[in-house]
Amino acid sequence: MTNEIILQPDFDSLFILITNKCNIECKHCYVSSSPNGSYGLSFPKIQETIIHTRKLFPKIRVVISGGEPFTRKSEIFKLLDEFNNSTPFLILSNGMLITESTANRLSTYNNLKLRLSLDGANAEKHDFLRGSGSFEKLLEGIKKLKKSGFNFDNLQFSSTISVGNEASVEEIISLAKKLGISKVKFEPIAKTGNALDHWDDYHKNETDKDSENYKNLIKKITSERHQEFTTYSINDAGFKDLTIYSNGDVYPFTYLNEIDKEYGLVGNINIERIDYLIKNPKMSNSILNKFLHYSMGPHRSLGATMFNI
Ligand code: SF4
Repeated sequence: MTNEIILQPDFDSLFILITNKCNIECKHCYVSSSPNGSYGLSFPKIQETIIHTRKLFPKIRVVISGGEPFTRKSEIFKLLDEFNNSTPFLILSNGMLITESTANRLSTYNNLKLRLSLDGANAEKHDFLRGSGSFEKLLEGIKKLKKSGFNFDNLQFSSTISVGNEASVEEIISLAKKLGISKVKFEPIAKTGNALDHWDDYHKNETDKDSENYKNLIKKITSERHQEFTTYSINDAGFKDLTIYSNGDVYPFTYLNEIDKEYGLVGNINIERIDYLIKNPKMSNSILNKFLHYSMGPHRSLGATMFNI
């Protein structure tokens, strides 16, 4: 007789990468998005997935990501109109497509947070990873949000720590402060997608130790400047993030490397409805596999940290 362990997933967030299209092509993009990326999930499929996930997890937060979600702006507003009264939303964006009218519309939703990517406190550092002009366009987007009256308590930065910007962490915090943004999430680069393709260019002579560098850096900052801000860790191995990729693939976490990708795949919402996939034993197996990899190490863990400034 075999004893099978079945885990009941308990998700806090439903991450939906609605598209693989992006207006830029970052060197470290873990899903290799670009202007040529695919359109992604159909709108009815996104609606259906939110509806059926909410039935199982009524308090779930919906996180809209991509690619760049604002390449499908009108559909984002349709989703917010339909669900945001009863469901909190977080949109992850590079901030470059936020026009005046987009900012005005976004400012009308109460249950909405925006997290904008910032990888350096100046154009040189940010644009190295994201391409020329990205920094200026992000700042313009933030100005438009300010002008629209968007609640800046609901605005955050997200910074990927990679080679070339490790030293910028303190400058990023200072810039956030100057702009009136009170939360910055830092996480080390995930080793997949474009980041994997460029790995040897940027991590020459290193044995994949940027996670370690990152952890030491965060430890140093938090111990030296603990009176200025509070921090909390985000445990990416907590399996709280049900993640749907733009091709429909479903994982109980956000994958960080090729091993995660191989072991974690549960199914695809274009083939099977999300609630059936959540109840499928494959979901439980995927969580167990990740847990084993995480516990046994060495592993790449995002080990993200949120700074409340
Ligand atoms: S990291 Fe974000 S902004 Fe950059 S290419 Fe990928 S999806 Fe686009």
